[in-house]
Amino acid sequence: MFSYQAPQDLLAGRVILVTGAGDGIGRAAAHAYARHGATVVLLGRTLEKLELVYDELEAAGYPQPAIVPLNLETAAEHDYIELANQLQDTFGKLDGILHNAGILGPITSIEGYDPIIWQQVMQVNLNAPFLMTQTLLPLLRLAPEASIIFTSSGVGRRGRAHWGAYAVSKFGTEGLAQVLADELENISAIRVNCINPGATRTAMRVWAYPAENPQNNPAPEEIMPLYLYLMGPDSKAVNGQSLDAQGSGSA
Ligand code: NDP
Repeated sequence: MFSYQAPQDLLAGRVILVTGAGDGIGRAAAHAYARHGATVVLLGRTLEKLELVYDELEAAGYPQPAIVPLNLETAAEHDYIELANQLQDTFGKLDGILHNAGILGPITSIEGYDPIIWQQVMQVNLNAPFLMTQTLLPLLRLAPEASIIFTSSGVGRRGRAHWGAYAVSKFGTEGLAQVLADELENISAIRVNCINPGATRTAMRVWAYPAENPQNNPAPEEIMPLYLYLMGPDSKAVNGQSLDAQGSGSA
């Protein structure tokens, strides 16, 4: 596991947007960021799930979160502009984005892959993070220093049979992060990195590996050290990296 002990006030005063915040790793990240002082903007497609997380954060006494229901499969440019305007009016800046929402799509061959589903997976996993990031960059520039984290996967670094659009979207995500990191290096206080969560006990993992015992994988809460490290000021000098949440690195 990536080893990092986050100070309690790591993210105090920061506004952090988490996509896919209603479930799995995104929900755990929303908790972790709020516990360390952040005002978390909970974005996802299922309002009831976001409301549950909202209630949990409020009951824990963390900074009051915000909810943004948005389906990344159908969201268009005007939705992102509206999101940017809302964040600007409410908070006046944005200190970080965790691009976490994702869908798996079918585990099937390229030859047999449904082109419509291919586009859906690419839209949610790659195109939406691009559009959202592009629109929110001016707000990130208003923060003293900001962090953008994209979510990759082992199959986004080495292709594997039958992982189709999911794997290709994650290769694209790694590329998007590298290009953006290079563009922003030295001319902004925004850093851009990728996290590969590794096998984690969530609904997506169960869907991908139905025969596996879920208890053999860490819970989302256990992989949070890297998520905290890359979002907080201790990683200020880290840019353009793709790191493993369950890897051996430490900080
Ligand atoms: P889950 O399926 O548990 O959660 C995915 C989240 O993304 C859910 O909150 C879901 O919302 C949201 N989401 C899906 N589609 C959309 C959409 N169209 N619009 C808005 N939100 C959407 O997955 P994980 O927590 O396991 O995965 C999180 C990230 O980690 C993903 O990017 C995944 O690819 C990556 N990853 C996960 C691994 C693992 O082992 N779990 C391994 C490697 C990478 P809703 O709940 O409403 O459906």
